[in-house]
Amino acid sequence: MEVLVINCGSSSLKFQLINSETEEVMAKGLCERIGLDGSITYSSSKTDKIEKKIDMPTHNEAITAVIDALCDDEIGVIKDMSEVGAVGHRVVHGGEFFTESVIVDDSVIDKIEQCNYLAPLHNPANIIGIKACMNIMPSTPNVCVFDTAFHQTMPKSAYLYAIPRKYYDENKIRRYGFHGTSHSFVSKRVAELVNKPYDEIKTIVCHLGNGASICAVDNGKSVDTSMGLTPLSGVIMGTRSGDIDPGILEVLCKQDNMTVEEVTNMLNKKSGVDGLSTVSSDFRDINKAIEEGNTVAAEALDAYIHQIVRFVGAYVAVLNGVDNIVFTAGVGENNPSIRERIMENLSYLGVKVDKKNNNTRGEEIMISTPDSSVKVFVVPTNEELAICRETVCLVDSKK
Ligand code: ADP
Repeated sequence: MEVLVINCGSSSLKFQLINSETEEVMAKGLCERIGLDGSITYSSSKTDKIEKKIDMPTHNEAITAVIDALCDDEIGVIKDMSEVGAVGHRVVHGGEFFTESVIVDDSVIDKIEQCNYLAPLHNPANIIGIKACMNIMPSTPNVCVFDTAFHQTMPKSAYLYAIPRKYYDENKIRRYGFHGTSHSFVSKRVAELVNKPYDEIKTIVCHLGNGASICAVDNGKSVDTSMGLTPLSGVIMGTRSGDIDPGILEVLCKQDNMTVEEVTNMLNKKSGVDGLSTVSSDFRDINKAIEEGNTVAAEALDAYIHQIVRFVGAYVAVLNGVDNIVFTAGVGENNPSIRERIMENLSYLGVKVDKKNNNTRGEEIMISTPDSSVKVFVVPTNEELAICRETVCLVDSKK
């Protein structure tokens, strides 16, 4: 089956067409500046990356542009959309409604809408993408795969915030966690690599990209994770602060005469290693600046590593031991020096770095030595493939 995987943002739409049997990516691309002027970048087995300006007042025109490209005589990879068996959508927030992926119907859309207040930037855009697909491909099933679903197995002790109980009971203010598709994909792969049943191992996943989160997976279930109600909490990220003292909010509002929205925006977009280093959110730039003697950048990197080590240590305690630690996403897959520094701080667990294996980028590999008491891996994440697999699984089960 060909599966169209869609990740819809407020003004962008990423897509991949995947053959579920071979798991080959037949075509992929990105529509940007939806609602402004609009453009599509597209590559497929028939063409290298091309970019085209297309008028895209709404997501409907973006989806139409994707379909036109996929079915084009020259650059397309299918004859018509009847060849697409299903569409898999990444949906950011499923609240407490969704513990797994679902086939879309009206009640699903209604529940996602009820979660809009928890992810005001993402969920409305996800719904627009789903509705555009339903509109343009009415007979094709749509499946939602939620960033939050994998973490719905967390116990209350891990997800309750110590604020008056009514905020949980009435407003559902609690830890939800994100990157669930990635944490699930990567931790399942580790079980295959160590050749043990998924429900018999303890794994800590470090998803270190621009956004970053750590997850404790006990016997195949997420039992704690560093992001919270929103993706702002936890470890230091590219531009997001991660955990800070909530008291900072009032101090900054008063001292700098900022509104709560301005502070939140600053914590999301101007903080993290970007804000702290004053150099960049990109770790390649940070490493370069450090090589050139920038001590402020070095302090930012130290703080970043400190925070990750702190969370991993906390999750070893939560899991009461750990069998495997795994690095994934942009930084986790491509930055040997950051991995090595984190692993050196875990020598108390018996972690031993295999320096040769660790000196690789973007590869699936074991980076601890054979006698290391905890096995450490790099596993490249592939959220689109995970969404494709979930989509096929659900659609097939309804046949
Ligand atoms: P996102 O959360 O946006 O999906 P990514 O997972 O793509 O982010 O991670 C982005 C980060 O990964 C960049 O900021 C960069 O620091 C790091 N990164 C990506 N590729 C490389 C590379 N080849 N070498 C070192 N760092 C890299």
